Amino acid sequence: MTQRRFDAMVIGGGLVGAAIAWGLKREGLSVALLDEGDAAYRASRGNFGLVWVQSKGLGAPWYQRWTRQSAENWAEFARDLTQQTGQSLALAQPGGVHLCLSDAEMSDRAARMEQMKREAGNYGFDYRMLDAREARDMLPGLGPAVVGASFTPYDGHVSPLALLRSLHQGFTAMGGVYLPNLKINGIATAPRHFLLETSVGAIQAERAVLAAGLGNATLAPHFGLKAPVRPQRGQVLVTERARNVLPMPTTTIRQTGEGSIMLGDSVEEVGFDTRQTQPVMAEIAHRAALSFPWIGKLNVVRAWSALRVMSPDGLPIYDQSESLPGAFTANCHSGVTLAGAHARLLAPMIARGALDPFLSSFSAGRF
Ligand SMILES: Cc1cc2nc3c(=O)[nH]c(=O)nc-3n(C[C@H](O)[C@H](O)[C@H](O)COP(=O)(O)OP(=O)(O)OC[C@H]3O[C@@H](n4cnc5c(N)ncnc54)[C@H](O)[C@@H]3O)c2cc1C
Repeated sequence: MTQRRFDAMVIGGGLVGAAIAWGLKREGLSVALLDEGDAAYRASRGNFGLVWVQSKGLGAPWYQRWTRQSAENWAEFARDLTQQTGQSLALAQPGGVHLCLSDAEMSDRAARMEQMKREAGNYGFDYRMLDAREARDMLPGLGPAVVGASFTPYDGHVSPLALLRSLHQGFTAMGGVYLPNLKINGIATAPRHFLLETSVGAIQAERAVLAAGLGNATLAPHFGLKAPVRPQRGQVLVTERARNVLPMPTTTIRQTGEGSIMLGDSVEEVGFDTRQTQPVMAEIAHRAALSFPWIGKLNVVRAWSALRVMSPDGLPIYDQSESLPGAFTANCHSGVTLAGAHARLLAPMIARGALDPFLSSFSAGRF
């Protein structure tokens, strides 16, 4: 059996691990990306594809700021990936709206947005509450049930599957080593020395990055880390293609680059249950048809559910191990949105060997 040495091994080849691995390669490190494979839970293949800022970080302005930084990095990140792979990510960041279907929803939304602005302080938070007429001017075809909306200019969307594929393609094109079908259960560890015996030989690295999504909960203690993440189910529906009608995404409705309309997504605490349920799908479709009555005339062609990677307070977890320096962990429920930050901000920190003090608010020590 051979032993291969790397500067870093990244465990988990979903959006979080692939974005970090890609960023580490760009920093000039030798990197192995290890992934359990098709049998694993993979949020990265079942998500909604929003690059979303406006509802992130209520009561936690550091999260709002991190999300904004990521959104600001997205255009260059996508440009670099597309230059590498020749594949469009269908990224658009025209801003986004959250539709309100009752006066109660509207006043609750207005209060939240004002709180976000207050908490943003000098960093600023640009938003507008739109009355029904303004919302209709912005989004033709809105139904009479919509009483108003909130708008922020930071939001957008992307093809999450093109993103995942491009990250893998770009990573390997830069000389990264991708090792699929490897479920990691244990590892030999010492500070800045991680040694993994696998069926394809031993792998040794100075840095180990735990990015195994829901798998991090059991892996983290092997590295002196904590990642108390739990599954949270979301269901998504997709319609047949429609002519180009939606100029920007809403929190739960977006038009893909190919023209289909994605509708979602629910928030359900059902453990590791990935089934779909008729009442939830019906509610998603009902709200979509109330928002845009023309959506009610389209056929739904696909539906699925997937499990989010959720921390106890919903915020990301980033840490470097105190007992085993060189071991890092990254966990979040917005891995599409945060891909820009993971690739362009977090990966360079890991390459340098220390997380910026700014990220200490995201340590699992807060639980
Ligand atoms: C319905 C839904 C809608 C969503 N919508 C959005 C959205 O609009 N915008 C947004 O930003 N985010 C969204 N998300 C969240 C986003 O999809 C996740 O944050 C992101 O995919 C998490 O990526 P991950 O790499 O951490 O986890 P995963 O995608 O779950 O990947 C983890 C990887 O680790 C591997 N793995 C696990 N255990 C092991 C092990 N022991 N050894 C080796 N490998 C292992 C698995 O094979 C897997 O590939 C949504 C999620 C869901 C479920």
